[in-house]
Amino acid sequence: MTEKNQHYDVVVIGGGLVGGSFALLLAGQNRQQNLRILLVDAMPLATAAGEPDFDARSTALSWGSHLIYRQAGLWDDLASHACAIKDIHVSDRGHFGAARLHNTDVDVSALGFVIENRHLAATLNKRLLEHPDIEVCSPASVQRVRHTATGMQIEVQGQDQVASTIDASLMVLADGGRSDICSQLGIQLERKPYQQHALICNVAFEHPHQGLAFERFTDTGPLAVLPLSDTEQEHRGALVWTVAEQEAAAITQLPEAGFLHALQERFGTRLGRFTRAGARSLYPLTLMLAREQIRPGLVLLGNVAHTLHPVAGQGLNLALRDADALAQALAEQAETHGAAAVGDYLMLEQYLQAQQSDQNLTVMFSDLTTRLFANRNPAMAAGRNLGLLFMDVMPPAKQWFARQAMGLR
Ligand SMILES: Cc1cc2nc3c(=O)[nH]c(=O)nc-3n(C[C@H](O)[C@H](O)[C@H](O)COP(=O)(O)OP(=O)(O)OC[C@H]3O[C@@H](n4cnc5c(N)ncnc54)[C@H](O)[C@@H]3O)c2cc1C
Repeated sequence: MTEKNQHYDVVVIGGGLVGGSFALLLAGQNRQQNLRILLVDAMPLATAAGEPDFDARSTALSWGSHLIYRQAGLWDDLASHACAIKDIHVSDRGHFGAARLHNTDVDVSALGFVIENRHLAATLNKRLLEHPDIEVCSPASVQRVRHTATGMQIEVQGQDQVASTIDASLMVLADGGRSDICSQLGIQLERKPYQQHALICNVAFEHPHQGLAFERFTDTGPLAVLPLSDTEQEHRGALVWTVAEQEAAAITQLPEAGFLHALQERFGTRLGRFTRAGARSLYPLTLMLAREQIRPGLVLLGNVAHTLHPVAGQGLNLALRDADALAQALAEQAETHGAAAVGDYLMLEQYLQAQQSDQNLTVMFSDLTTRLFANRNPAMAAGRNLGLLFMDVMPPAKQWFARQAMGLR
């Protein structure tokens, strides 16, 4: 970006996984409308995935998300880094209920895919920087925004500390769960803390996982092990262990042998012996929802609109469905009413109404599974075990659960 006070049809603030994916989805729809798209991010966009790293963080992409990336022409670049989830095994430690979901139950080749974030980000960033219809301004930070009669005015500060002012017909705010801009605009957030933390780390184990993902409910809270691609010497998985707030620090700080022992005791031996635990991180579990997602010339996407907790593995998946729907709505609007109409409130309202039931259902699904399975009350334990048994013998219930987890509605 060289000139100042430029006008763009769509300015995306935040080039994280959500903002970056959205800009590419919109540009993919942008064949006839010639929308001018600008993406601004405070950090430089890394285009190299870097060296293999045992501790690399990963994301479980649903089957539905994979379809969105495939349609956008991105999947071919992502596929070689993605580990397919063929089965999900759900069980309750010390109780009888268990359920197993196969990809064949829903007639797909995989229930989802686990991909390291570094590969996902590098693929998106490379495409963003190469795309002829997207301008990228990074590293540059958005300082101030204000509503105007025709959209939004955005003040961006680049590396050289020089501020530029940009006018946008539509500002897509995708600046994550700690948005300064959201508070600047007076958009209120609803927060629901769960008094629990997610302990995240990669682990190595004796047996190959064979594409099996595990969700196990234990006395300390639910724990999930997702399949990761093996390193040269080790079978590897991503552990997400939900622990009560008051126990989180003690479990995280256990010496490695003690940690592996505690994990093995709760998980059992389905993957053989746990042999290694990588760097451990703790995330407080909070549900955060923006009270407004749209205004004339403004739409919120991704964590700034709804931050789900990591245990549900639905945050990015839900945001991608929103991003895909928004990109289609904007392309249609520009085609019918011209590029200047992409900030139209009525169209944004229709987009949001169409997404609302998916958003509500996903939030409810992740909220319910967290509260139900974290509960140590014996009556609740019996209930959820019956639920697991019921799900295993009742194909429609199993299919419903699988479709939620797969991001298919
Ligand atoms: C441990 C963990 C595990 C998870 N696992 C899964 C999973 O398996 N499946 C799943 O679907 N989801 C998962 N999620 C959720 C998922 O990671 C998030 O939903 C997603 O990354 C949100 O991306 P975002 O782009 O909205 O926000 P962010 O990733 O926070 O990106 C925001 C971007 O905005 C930029 N920015 C901020 N402020 C400004 C500014 N003023 N000016 C310019 N740029 C700015 C930042 O630099 C950043 O690049 C997980 C989350 C966690 C924490």
